[in-house]
Amino acid sequence: MLPFPILRVQAIDLRSQILDRSAQRDGRFVSVPFFLENGGIIRRQCTREAKIDPVRKEIRRLLGLRPGQHATNFRVEQWIGISTDEMIRMKLARDPWIINRWPLIERRMSRNDCLIWLKRHGYPEPPKSACIGCPYRSNQNWRDMKEHDPKSFEDAVQVDHALRLHGGARNMRKAEFMHRACRPLGSVNFDRSDTSDQLSFLDECDGVCGT
Ligand code: SF4
Repeated sequence: MLPFPILRVQAIDLRSQILDRSAQRDGRFVSVPFFLENGGIIRRQCTREAKIDPVRKEIRRLLGLRPGQHATNFRVEQWIGISTDEMIRMKLARDPWIINRWPLIERRMSRNDCLIWLKRHGYPEPPKSACIGCPYRSNQNWRDMKEHDPKSFEDAVQVDHALRLHGGARNMRKAEFMHRACRPLGSVNFDRSDTSDQLSFLDECDGVCGT
């Protein structure tokens, strides 16, 4: 029993947006950093739209703020659960009235320290918190998912396929792919050297995305 309530927020469903977009060709553009066949990468806005903004909106609701009202009289402490392995993702909050803290880093706890703590206290090992189809996954990540969570992997394969249905996204002339190899996800050999330069969260992903 925790001494505080747990609130879950969700603003957009990236998976549904991709599938709707491929079905209708007129959906809103989903700004996930997918790879383009010309070697480019789409600008990432999903972290902000799917994670940071919904949390901020809920904080404002809890404070009783009206839309557009300044939070000048408030100070909010926001705890973010990243470990010392992910220190590169520490960033100040966009709003000056939100003070970010990283309690695991303050306690010098690595991911392995967290797993040991969870085991000692009888909790199961938690899965990583990234979206199933996050393009920042490493080959090791994809391989693990394929072997240990084939249902999620098959889902990712289907959504990756949907990215290129009907010629792809509106206004997007180059085909998009979930994997850096720019091949359908189901056909990627995650052991091959030509696919081993997949980005990891250390390259780009920050904020609250845990790949
Ligand atoms: S985990 Fe990946 S796909 Fe999901 S919001 Fe973060 S960067 Fe985007």
